[in-house]
Amino acid sequence: MKDLQDTICALSTAPGRAGIAVVRLSGVESFGLLRKVFAPDKALADLPARHAILGRIIDARTGTEIDQALATCFPSPNSYTGEDVVEISLHGSPVLVSVLLDSLCAHGARLAEPGEFTMRAFLRGRMDLAQAEAVRDVVEATTVYQAQVASRQRSGDLSRQLEPAKSLLTDIIVQLESAVEFAEEDLGLESREMLAGKLGHAQEEVGKWIDSFRRGRIVRDGFSMAIVGRPNVGKSSLFNALLAQDRSIVLETPGTTRDLVSEYTNLEGIPVRLLDTAGVRASGDRVEQIGVDRSFRAMADADAILLVVDASQPPEEEDERLRERLAAMSCILVMNKCDLASVWSPEQKQAYAGDWPSMGVSALTGEHIDLLRKAILEHLFGDSTAQRDGILVTNLRHCHCLEAARDHLARASAALRQGLSEEFALVDLHAGLRSLGAITGETSVEDILGEIFSRFCVGK
Ligand code: GDP
Repeated sequence: MKDLQDTICALSTAPGRAGIAVVRLSGVESFGLLRKVFAPDKALADLPARHAILGRIIDARTGTEIDQALATCFPSPNSYTGEDVVEISLHGSPVLVSVLLDSLCAHGARLAEPGEFTMRAFLRGRMDLAQAEAVRDVVEATTVYQAQVASRQRSGDLSRQLEPAKSLLTDIIVQLESAVEFAEEDLGLESREMLAGKLGHAQEEVGKWIDSFRRGRIVRDGFSMAIVGRPNVGKSSLFNALLAQDRSIVLETPGTTRDLVSEYTNLEGIPVRLLDTAGVRASGDRVEQIGVDRSFRAMADADAILLVVDASQPPEEEDERLRERLAAMSCILVMNKCDLASVWSPEQKQAYAGDWPSMGVSALTGEHIDLLRKAILEHLFGDSTAQRDGILVTNLRHCHCLEAARDHLARASAALRQGLSEEFALVDLHAGLRSLGAITGETSVEDILGEIFSRFCVGK
C-alpha cells in the first residue's frame, strides 16, 4: 500500500478539453502546496475553509502565471478523505492541467494511484468499505436507476441493514462465552433451542440478501438478450423497437441480417446488451452458416432469449426446428406482426409456446412493446416490482462474504442443537461475524484493499 504520509494530487474530472478541470490534493501538505502554486487575488492571512478563492496558477518551472482559477480548502477531518483537501478548478485544458500537476509534484506532491482518495477516506474512517466500493458504482452507473441503487449503498444503506444481524451474533457470542467462562451458567436445553432459533432467523435474513444478488448483479452489470427467429419474422424491427432507434438494417429479402449486431439500451433503468442474431435459416451458403452458428452461441450465453415468430404467417418447418433446438432453454415467445390478422390457431400457439411466456406485439406499430419490456424483466427477476426497493446486494465480494456467513451460522446452530460444547458454536459464530464484518471492511486485509481500489479511476 502506498504511503499515507504523502500528499497526493490528481485530475479528478475526466481527461480532455472541457469548460473546467478540477485538480484535487489530499494530505498534510495540501495547504502549503496550494500556497506555492496559487496566488490569491486578495491577500489572505489564512485560507478560508470551504470557500472558493479566486486567484492565479503559477508554473513552478518559470514562475509565470498560467491561468486564473478557483481554489477551495477542506480542512481535516471534515473532508472527503478526512485529510486536508484542496480542490483547484482551472480552465479545462490538458496542457494547463499537466503544468499544474507538474508544479505540484515539483513542490513535493505525488500523483495519486487509482482510487487512492477513496482508499484514504476508508482508512481514515470517513466511510466503510461497502460505501467506498459504491463510490465507483456511482461513477460508473450508466442509468439513473443504477446510480440511485449505488447512491443508496454509498450513503451506508447496506452497512445499516447489516447492523441488526451483527449485533444479534455479538449478543449470542456474549451469552455463550459467559457459559464457557462460568461453568455454573451452563446453557440449558431451552436456551440452546432459543439461541438456535435466533440463529435460524439471522440465517434467513442473510439468505434473502444472497438471493437479492441475482437481481443486484443484473442491476449493476446489465444483462444480455438474444433475439432469434427465422428470417423475415421481424427480429431487426423488434430490435429497433426495443431500442427505439434505427440501428440494424431492415430489408424485405430473407437472410439480410448476417452480422451479430450488439447495442446497448436500458429496460426500466437496467442496461441491456441486445444481440441481434443472424437469421437461423438452415443454409448451404457458408458465410450465412457462420452467422447461424454464431446465433446459437449467442443464445447459449444470453441471460434472456426472445424467440420471434410471424403471427401473420402459418408456422413453418424452420419455426419448428428452432423450437426444438431451443427446447431446453428458457425463452419468451414473441408473436410478432399482431397488427395483421393472426393465422395461428390458439392450439397451435399453445403447443408452440409450451411453458414459455408468450405475447403478441407489433414491432412495426410499437403495440405492446412496453408490455414486452415488462415481461422481459419479470422473466429475469420474477416479480421485479416487489423487489425493487428492498435489500439489493450488487457486489460479488459482498455475496461471497454473505455465503460464508450463512454457512457459519448454519454450523453454529447445528452445534447448539446437537448439544455439543459451546466452544464449537463459538468458533463458527466468530467466523460468521468476521465474514459480515469483511463487507464493511472491519476485518479487511491489505491485499483485498489493493484489489478493490485499483479498479477505480485516478482522481477518485
Ligand atoms: P428479420 O429478418 O427477422 O430481422 O425481419 P425484419 O425486421 O427485417 O422484418 C422483415 C419484414 O417484416 C420487413 O418488411 C418489416 O417491415 C416487416 N415487419 C417487421 N415487423 C412487423 C410487424 O410487426 N408488422 C408488420 N406488418 N410488418 C412487420
